[in-house]
Amino acid sequence: MDPNLAADLARLPELLDDARRFAVEVLAGIADRPAAVAPEHRAPAPLPDRGAGADGALNQFRERWAPGFSGSAGPRYLGFVTGGATPASVAGDWLTSAFDQNVVVSTDSAAPDLEREAVGWLRELFGLSAAHDGAFVTGATMSNLVGLAIAREWVGERLGVSVAQDGVAALGNLPVLSGSPHSSVYKALAMLGLGRGCVRELATMAGREAVDVDRLAAELAALDGRPAIVVANAGTVNTVDFDDLRAISALRKRYPFWLHVDAAFGGFAALSPQHADLVAGIDEADSVCVDLHKWLNVPYDSAVQFTRRRDLQVRIFQNAAAYLGLPTDNPDFVHLTPESSRRLRALPAWFTLAAYGRQGHREIVERDIALACELGDRIAELPRLRLLAPVRLNVVCFTLAEDPSAARIDALARAISESGESFLTPTVYKGTPGLRAAFSNWRTTNSDTMRIVDILRSL
Ligand SMILES: *Cc1c(COP(=O)(O)O)cnc(C)c1O
Repeated sequence: MDPNLAADLARLPELLDDARRFAVEVLAGIADRPAAVAPEHRAPAPLPDRGAGADGALNQFRERWAPGFSGSAGPRYLGFVTGGATPASVAGDWLTSAFDQNVVVSTDSAAPDLEREAVGWLRELFGLSAAHDGAFVTGATMSNLVGLAIAREWVGERLGVSVAQDGVAALGNLPVLSGSPHSSVYKALAMLGLGRGCVRELATMAGREAVDVDRLAAELAALDGRPAIVVANAGTVNTVDFDDLRAISALRKRYPFWLHVDAAFGGFAALSPQHADLVAGIDEADSVCVDLHKWLNVPYDSAVQFTRRRDLQVRIFQNAAAYLGLPTDNPDFVHLTPESSRRLRALPAWFTLAAYGRQGHREIVERDIALACELGDRIAELPRLRLLAPVRLNVVCFTLAEDPSAARIDALARAISESGESFLTPTVYKGTPGLRAAFSNWRTTNSDTMRIVDILRSL
């Protein structure tokens, strides 16, 4: 054994304790760490020939890299839609690495059953019925990819071809209809060989990002019975707008289409009785995407995908080999997602649900929504700022009252980052450059919102 490795084996408890102590120190200061850190160029170090051992590596990381890491796990990082990591989920994540399970087949470990239990809990949390099966993937992009792959196979089934067997060429043109699709939908379609160009972005309702359902019906009618895919949005990134899932689903009585719902973070509206109506009808979907590293507050990377057609899913993702076995009625995860070998990504989610339950996570969601509404109210009172949309859930989308040019918005975003107080990401909403403040961290409190109001006022 390499001498460093042998020494580390002998000192394993101390080494893990050192890493733990460093993590505790980082998390104790997370609220004071700058939300964002301007990256400075670092020349890459040469590959070590003889390593420094785990404590040497920890020292190097501490000195060279950790100071440049953002406070994205902290309470005032409001860029993109970035959750933090609850205490229990961090513990679960550490144990995922310690056990190092490969959740591929069910013949050597209980780990796949833990993933099934976690998927069942999540299904219930998001108001889905037992008709939906699910699996963990790395993020909403992969969850959208899996849902759209099953959609593609479903269209093939209607046309009497198997895309998984014969390729996309067997399919011809396949229209994907959506009001305000997330960029990852285009990415998924590019990967699936359907092409970014197959998306038809439909008119949305006046002043909204939600699709105009009459317009959708007209487009479907024009397809003259040809099967299509509809991507409904449950929480758009700019203004957190929701398509009317019940109305869209009702169109299936008249037109053949696969209904995929991108509920990456909007799916969490189901946890708040006051907001659950926004996702009413989600159970009717054929496939559903929800991110977990956003509002469930588990560490990156983690998302779940659900579908009613596991049979089609297995046709696509099966990895049948003598040593892996054939897919059964309760297929192993190796036959369900793009990955073959995969970590026990379910464990951090399992930990946080076991630790805080439905009520604990409901409290996080409702607090973040209340904080977003509070910030929205304050911004509406500031004469030099203006809201670009009402605050429907956890994102405040706003701009400068006067001359909201991209250059001025970028300068404001930069000034906020450089203050270290917060991190907001710029966007363009209906042609107007603006900023988004997305609340999805379990640590954020009212005093954080007030600090953000102060920094906006001073800039
Ligand atoms: C974040 C997001 C995605 C992509 O999620 P990743 O986890 O980054 O892959 C897709 N759709 C919506 C609506 C999102 O908010």
